[in-house]
Amino acid sequence: MDLNFNDLGLDEQYLQAVDRLGFQKPTPIQSMAIPVLLEGRDVLGQAQTGTGKTAAFLLPILQNIQPGIGCIQALVLAPTRELAIQIAQEAKKIAQFTAIRIATVYGGQSYDIQIRELKNGVDMVIATTGRLMDLIRKDVIDLDQVHYLILDEADEMLEMGFIEDIETILTHLPNVEQKGLFSATMPKEVRLLANKYLVKPKEIMINPSNRTLEEIEQRCYFVRQDGKFAALLKILEMEMVQSALVFVRTKMRAQELADDLAEQGYAAKAMHGDLNQKQRESVLLSFRKHQITMMVATDVAARGLDIKGVSHVINYDIPDDPEDYIHRIGRTGRAGCRGNAISLISKKEGERFHKIESFSHQTVIECAVPSRGEILAKRDEVFIQRLLDSMKNTDLERERAMVRQLADRDFSALDLAAAAFNLLRNNESPLPEEHRSPEKFSHGERSLKNGSLKEVSHISKKHGSSSRSKNKGEFSEHKQEKGMVCLKMNLGKKQGLRPGNVVGTITGELGISGKTIGKIHIYNDHTLVDVSENHVQAVLANSNGSYKVNGRPVYLTRVE
Ligand code: AMP
Repeated sequence: MDLNFNDLGLDEQYLQAVDRLGFQKPTPIQSMAIPVLLEGRDVLGQAQTGTGKTAAFLLPILQNIQPGIGCIQALVLAPTRELAIQIAQEAKKIAQFTAIRIATVYGGQSYDIQIRELKNGVDMVIATTGRLMDLIRKDVIDLDQVHYLILDEADEMLEMGFIEDIETILTHLPNVEQKGLFSATMPKEVRLLANKYLVKPKEIMINPSNRTLEEIEQRCYFVRQDGKFAALLKILEMEMVQSALVFVRTKMRAQELADDLAEQGYAAKAMHGDLNQKQRESVLLSFRKHQITMMVATDVAARGLDIKGVSHVINYDIPDDPEDYIHRIGRTGRAGCRGNAISLISKKEGERFHKIESFSHQTVIECAVPSRGEILAKRDEVFIQRLLDSMKNTDLERERAMVRQLADRDFSALDLAAAAFNLLRNNESPLPEEHRSPEKFSHGERSLKNGSLKEVSHISKKHGSSSRSKNKGEFSEHKQEKGMVCLKMNLGKKQGLRPGNVVGTITGELGISGKTIGKIHIYNDHTLVDVSENHVQAVLANSNGSYKVNGRPVYLTRVE
């Protein structure tokens, strides 16, 4: 059924708003949910971010509200502050041609502002459960006249342990007439909640794989767990990344990966639950505005966020749940633009990824991590393009005069151009470290799919090598530059050592410049760092354990 917005029973001011928002046609969930919610029926909707579900519940609920009577008539509950803010922004746009007043209530913002807003009289509240509970306890919010209730991302709320809060909030809503429960997935717990609180709901299921996934090119790379970062750097060199959402399993990994990427010159920031409200808002805003290129997030922190223009979703860690994979990659390939989903898979994650593929019936192309040669060729291609653009767009009179002068002194144009290129490329970042062989994947674990770009080389090296040979391997991975000496530090990732600590240890007390430090490799229990030959003695003499990381003294020794 191909419906238009004016077939759905919406009033003029809402038709005007969707027009202003640039929505030409209702999405499937909007066509299905809006008439039902306008009728007054409860709805149980399974739909993910990107399906237009927010407008699907906001339009009818807002239309049902009577503006200006000065009491809260509708309540929307969301699992995270960012999602609450996002819903409120959309609600304000949808209600722009009405007198409806909307307030957002979430933790991390001063109580005073929110209480003042509520006292002035609002028609709709969008809230996170924690802050709403606080306001109920403080007796500064009156929910007696709430007739419409929406629970958004219900699965996420339950997963975050909000069930008791939700049930308590429901006891403070004596006059609710209509409820909508929206969830990206439909686990047993969500069904139980729906059975308990919804009355004969209309069930609306939107299958995400019917949506935009065909617009997404899905690729995977089989890499060693400890080679993921190097592999990612190489892959990034080959991609035209405008905006990338990178997913990891834990908050700590999110922070570490964002720091490591930033260290390599990428505009990357982490988004996770350990950041305070201000930090989270600022990261999200800079990602939305494309001031940073990469946001490294956990599933929970990125849940439900609608971000436009994501060119790449990168699964740095593979999720446990196939639905999470679909959910993650659905962030790219929106609005008719092609998207890229890249998954880095370690040996341990192989089986899990195989399940994801079979569950989601997705075609994932298996690729090889780009080689140094491919990266160099790509760099040359980009460089030549920049050069040609500069020839087209810049007035080069002064430069031409310089070339003429040098040509008069018998320098050939070829040599001059080559020297100029070399000079220009002086501050090019060093090539990412050579990728180590992928761990061995048995045939049962992974079979190549049709249309694969390249087959990953399956090298059958024995694993579990002795620590001596392992260290040797690391040392050869950590190739020194000329004039540098490799030193070993007694702490690594496990002890919380960050690149900043390495620099601090070496330069801190000696007051030498950071330029004396070359490559740094932080391993689990130790770190390898290059220090300029001229400063090695002073650095070693100064390594007396006075610099501490998380209370542990740091010592440096020469690598023999
Ligand atoms: P949601 O699934 O609610 O997170 O919405 C995803 C995005 O789709 C948001 O940026 C909405 O503004 C946008 N959107 C919602 N409905 C439509 C529509 N009918 N046409 C085009 N875009 C829409």
